[in-house]
Order: sequence, then C-alpha cells, then structure tokens
Amino acid sequence: MVERVYLAKPRGFCAGVVMAIRAVEKAAKAFDGDLVIYHQIVHNETVVERLEKAHHVHFVEDLEEIETLQKRHRLAGTIVFSAHGIPPAIREKAARMGLVQIDATCPLVTKVHTEARRYAQMGYTILLIGDSADHQEVRGTLGEAPDHTILVAVHTQVGKDPRLKDPYTVEVPDPEKVVVLTQTTLSVDDTDKTIAILKKRFPKLVTPPRSDLCYATKNRQDEVKRIAPMVDLFLVLSSRHSSNGLRLFELASGLTRAVRIDTPADLREAWFEGVRRVGITSAASTPEDLVQGTIRWLRERWPDLEVIEEGEWEQIAFREPTPTRPEEILQAQ
Ligand code: SF4
Repeated sequence: MVERVYLAKPRGFCAGVVMAIRAVEKAAKAFDGDLVIYHQIVHNETVVERLEKAHHVHFVEDLEEIETLQKRHRLAGTIVFSAHGIPPAIREKAARMGLVQIDATCPLVTKVHTEARRYAQMGYTILLIGDSADHQEVRGTLGEAPDHTILVAVHTQVGKDPRLKDPYTVEVPDPEKVVVLTQTTLSVDDTDKTIAILKKRFPKLVTPPRSDLCYATKNRQDEVKRIAPMVDLFLVLSSRHSSNGLRLFELASGLTRAVRIDTPADLREAWFEGVRRVGITSAASTPEDLVQGTIRWLRERWPDLEVIEEGEWEQIAFREPTPTRPEEILQAQ
C-alpha cells in the first residue's frame, strides 16, 4: 500500500524549455502559414504531439524535408531552431533557403558554443564531453569548431558510442593547449570524475570558470539524491530521448528501484507491490500535468496517500527569441 509520495522540487520544465515552447506558440500565431521546426523543439513526445495538434507545426530533422512539406502544406517561410542548438552550417543553409529564423537555443547552450569558438580561435583543442555524437546539442557545439574538437565519453559510458573517445586514452596534438567543455545535461558526478581523469592526464587542461552543466540539470539531480534514500520506488517522468531525464533515471536507479515512464498511462499496479513510499521527479522537458496525472493515478488506488513536496522552485526566466531575416544572417557570416 502506498502511503507517501515524495515529490521532487524543482522538477519539470526549466527556463530553456519554457522559452522554447513559448517561442513556437507565439510564432505559430504570428505567422501566416505553418511553421517548420528543426528537430524536436524539446525532447518530450507529449510536448511535440501537443504542438503539432494545436498549431500545425512540422518537425524536420533535415532541411531537405522542407521541399517535400511545401508540396502538401502552406508554410510560413519561417523556421524555429530547437532549445538544443544547431551547428552554424544549418543556420547558414536555412538562410540561403530564404527562411526567416527564430533561434530558440537555450542561452546556456549558446554559452558553450561561445566558449567553443573562443578557444578554437586561440588554437586550443576542445575535449567535448557528451553522451552521444548524435545528440543535437553535441552536434551543435561540435559544429562551432569541428577541426578543433574531440568528442569524449563520460567515464561510465566508454564504448557505448565508438565515436566518443575514452578519457583515459584520448590524445591531443598539444597538451599545453587543451580545454574541456561539456554537454549541459550530463550526470554531475560522472562529469566531475571525467574532468578529473582528463586533468590528471593533461595538467594544463583549462576548465571554464562556470560549469557547462546547467542549473536545471544539477538541481533536479540533487533532488533525486535527497529523496531516493527515503523511497522504495522512484518514478521518473521523461521521454526516452531526454538526456537530462535519462540521467535522472540512472541516478535514481543507482540509489533505489526506479522506473521511467513517459506518461501516467504507462503505470502498472504490479510495480507497487510492497511499496510504501514513492518518489516522483520529471525531466526538464516533461509537462507538469503528467506529474499531476501520476499523483491522481496513485490517489485513485490509495486515497489516504500523503504528498510531501519540499524544496524551492527556481526563479529563472530566459528572454524569448525574435525573428531574424535571412539577409541579416548572411551579412553576419
Ligand atoms: S536543460 Fe538546461 S541547458 Fe537544457 S534547455 Fe533546460 S536550462 Fe537550458
């Protein structure tokens, strides 16, 4: 019988996700015709489905898809770039296609792009720690300085993606000029350890003054660490492509029994046999109504359930992006 739920706080939407979703909703209303969005605006299936339904937006993984879309839909001639960021080559290609651009890249990802350009200009080799060479954020940062960047795996993930080097064996052309940057949504502890391994191998390794791991990643992981010792089962609401959500799930799994669910529809009564205390958290791209739906599902079965929610909400907001004309993009190249 479930008696108590510990609800993580903060959880769910971060400032970057709020900004990106608002940017799409606003642009969909403002522009005449359907919007095209490059990549899933945020890594959550429910968010993507709701935007498609409510605003007739189209998600593409390749700019070439736009030509096919144009044959079946009336497009607005505008493209929105997702919160994960894009390589500059995509920005330029979209401008050459004459598309107005709304760049919803999270400012904390843009910060890493700026660091990549700066260190590449100074002749540094960038060791970029990421969870997959296919992750949109990794592609975007790599695209800022492809000739200066080496992708490195988190030390616990070595071998999972052969395109990412092992931190214990990676080589650089000049160990005196090497900097480490990271994807924003990795495991805090594993990333710290990976940087320590690199620092031991390259004592002159430069680390950015402020960690590239974002505040939302750190805060959500801290909450999982606080709650996990108190619960028999941790429910992590996250889509399977959400990097920060999967890190929450891995962290919770290492501390107690954990299950990842997309929505409350995935819940199974059998999981709760002998379970008295349940933890709940959600990824930075998971809508809050899915968390509330999960609590409702539990209350329907155990009406006396007590919900404990401590902690603080974050007070961070990012400015929404404004449209940029293709000429402006090309002039700035
Ligand atoms: S998880 Fe962090 S880096 Fe990603 S969008 Fe949210 S605040 Fe930005």
